[in-house]
Amino acid sequence: MKPDLFEAPDYYLLDELLTEEHKLVRDAARSWVKRDVSPIIEEYAQKAEFPTQIISGLAEIGAFGPYIPPEYGGAGLDQISYGLIMQEIERGDSGVRSTASVQSSLVMYPIYAYGTEEQRKKYLPSLASGKMMGCFGLTEPDHGSNPSGMTTNFIDKGDHYLLNGAKLWISNAPFADIAVVWAKNEEGRIHGLIVERGMEGFSTPETHNKWSLRASATGELIFDNVKVPKENLLPGKSGLGAPLGCLDSARYGIAWGAIGAAMDCYDTALRYAGERIQFDRPIAATQLQQKKLAEMVTEITKAQLLAFRLGQLKNEGRATTAQISMAKRNNVDMAINIAREARQVLGGMGITGEYPIMRHMMNLESVITYEGTHDIHLLITGWDITGISAFK
Ligand SMILES: Cc1cc2nc3c(=O)[nH]c(=O)nc-3n(C[C@H](O)[C@H](O)[C@H](O)COP(=O)(O)OP(=O)(O)OC[C@H]3O[C@@H](n4cnc5c(N)ncnc54)[C@H](O)[C@@H]3O)c2cc1C
Repeated sequence: MKPDLFEAPDYYLLDELLTEEHKLVRDAARSWVKRDVSPIIEEYAQKAEFPTQIISGLAEIGAFGPYIPPEYGGAGLDQISYGLIMQEIERGDSGVRSTASVQSSLVMYPIYAYGTEEQRKKYLPSLASGKMMGCFGLTEPDHGSNPSGMTTNFIDKGDHYLLNGAKLWISNAPFADIAVVWAKNEEGRIHGLIVERGMEGFSTPETHNKWSLRASATGELIFDNVKVPKENLLPGKSGLGAPLGCLDSARYGIAWGAIGAAMDCYDTALRYAGERIQFDRPIAATQLQQKKLAEMVTEITKAQLLAFRLGQLKNEGRATTAQISMAKRNNVDMAINIAREARQVLGGMGITGEYPIMRHMMNLESVITYEGTHDIHLLITGWDITGISAFK
């Protein structure tokens, strides 16, 4: 891959709205991505492997539990810092950001928010340092957009729970040490359980042949009469609202992350258009390419403003699920459209691994589907503004 010359667009001088801490956190993540992710990511995406050697670096830049309090090993940062870290990581690769999002919002967050003090102390410091990795099992083979129909279940056996079922499309599953698994009890109520690698009857086969998020490991979670100790149940919240609360946090991170992928595509296309000579002038001198580039920076600027305001609301505890849906949906759609346009600016070179655009484009096909599809987020907005659910 070409050297990483990335320069972030900031057309509306949004840096002026950031605190010194925001900028320090953002710049540390940006430098780390340039040094440790950009040089290797294309190779790992091509061979469809997660680069496990970057786990300690992710922990060092605070990507695991940025907003979890320091007493549990987290960085104790605000929501805008969390967003900026996700933006910078996804500027490198959506698959790497997925690993960080899952660890932070889908594993650490439920343990922090719904777990006991013993569970927090047992798991959070190791998860924050990357010594322990986690995954989140909600989706099932027959229940994706409608997780309330899940069939994974556990029954009370007196001194333990007996867990049966299967989860599909689980990021980090092939190497995770623990899984936060959502399953129904005998009354059909959804609860979170912490399942540990090594428990008898628990396996995590890897999903192969993906054309998207190739540098992220995805797999299944299979539970065949797994005995789960009773102290592994997350007691603080039950019902579908419990996993959906985690998804709010992760989707918020995606709204920022997608900006990173879009910025990388735009920056690559802008530089290429300035250097590529056709008909005796740079292609950047043509009206058609300027239209593409001008529209890209406009859309990125709008997405930055959306994410920043959402971050302020989240810091105040006022961001709603529907507001988060709007930002996730808009920003991922913005990024995938920019990736497609930017790919064309590079002509044939755009399809090669010499440049990051095609990798971003393929990654974003997963990002637009996971954590609630593009359609589902539209329905959430529709429900919010009309008061009528169109899900059924
Ligand atoms: C790479 C990758 C990683 C993932 N990681 C995780 C993970 O770590 N943990 C986890 O639990 N899950 C994970 N997922 C699963 C992901 O969240 C689901 O794929 C997603 O929720 C969609 O479910 P589905 O694929 O079953 O699609 P379906 O729900 O079958 O949807 C198929 C199509 O129907 C549309 N549709 C569904 N219902 C409606 C409706 N009511 N009205 C209109 N249209 C509708 C959808 O928008 C979609 O276009 C991951 C997925 C991928 C691809």
